[in-house]
Amino acid sequence: MLWTLAKIDFTNGDNQSTNKLITSGQIKKRQTPECSNHALNLLPAMTRLPGLKQIRLGMQWLRGRIGAAGLILGYHRVAVSPYDPFGLCVQPQHLAEQLEIIAQYATPISLEGMWAGLQARTLPRRAIAVTFDDGYAEVLAAAAPLLAHHNIPATVFVTTGSLGHPFWWDELTYLILASPCLPDSLELSIKGDSVRWSVTHPRYLSLNKDTDSPRRNLLHTLYNHLVPLSLDERNLLLAELRQWTGCTSSPRERSLTPDEIITLNQHQLISLGAHTVTHPWLPHLPAAAQQAEIQGSKHTLETVLGQPVTLFSYPHGQANQDTRRWVGQAGFALACASENGVVWRGRDPYFLPRFWIPDWDGETFARWLKQWLG
Ligand SMILES: [Zn+2]
Repeated sequence: MLWTLAKIDFTNGDNQSTNKLITSGQIKKRQTPECSNHALNLLPAMTRLPGLKQIRLGMQWLRGRIGAAGLILGYHRVAVSPYDPFGLCVQPQHLAEQLEIIAQYATPISLEGMWAGLQARTLPRRAIAVTFDDGYAEVLAAAAPLLAHHNIPATVFVTTGSLGHPFWWDELTYLILASPCLPDSLELSIKGDSVRWSVTHPRYLSLNKDTDSPRRNLLHTLYNHLVPLSLDERNLLLAELRQWTGCTSSPRERSLTPDEIITLNQHQLISLGAHTVTHPWLPHLPAAAQQAEIQGSKHTLETVLGQPVTLFSYPHGQANQDTRRWVGQAGFALACASENGVVWRGRDPYFLPRFWIPDWDGETFARWLKQWLG
């Protein structure tokens, strides 16, 4: 499909239609495990926030339009899912539309190519790098053919500790949202503290998809309790939760297997990067544990692929100065964060900003992209 410029005019600097669309409430902010600031909030924020923050966001916007700068786009899942409480999914049809727009109106480039182009001052205009975090098997099945069709490079960051299996947050989501009924109460011992929830309110039995439904609130509460735990502690609690719900099946979504990682790597346009072993909040871990997560995922991927892995992405976008230094010392050349912003020559290569792209149709995506590409 050819996107008509009558609707999406990349050559016209008028942003009124874009502002109108965003402020009309058609685009809503969502929380994801990866980031809490969506790109779509930036432009309205420029008109609302006073002081330095407004100026900083305005400068980023200008740099994206007139300077030598690129955009890195972030995705997670490529699927239609009945449960997507963290906003990780982009439907295959919507991804196809978004990639078609990138191919038509931008200059798709690899992550490494973008950074090299910036340093050599040869970056083409409207440069866009596409990334996928976590390493869902859907990336091979659904995204790789679309990327190949449109000749768009991409980097896939793989969490290496659960290859071929569901991620723990998908298991948690499945247990809480997909169980046909929940028992009256839940009591868990978390790091020695007994935590109890009463689930007797009838609305807890609802499969209401509203973001503020009690089931979703319970899910997010449990997620926040589980995310800082070690792998063993978390697995123990997930086993307790599974017993509590009586749920015996598992979610269908899962991470790539080693064979699938090799197949993905055979796509000429796709690069593989590391995303830790267990997807922790890195800055919350002791130094040795952080280094083990960073080096462990690199080692596993390099063993599977038989080649160096030099790209990294921080789980939840979180990194402090020590984390960045250890990523560099481990031999990575570039690392992506989750902070919104454009990439220019002077950026920290170990904290590259990204925009997380929601499940937008092509037209909505194009209106957003127009703000940044000019
Ligand atoms: Zn992740």
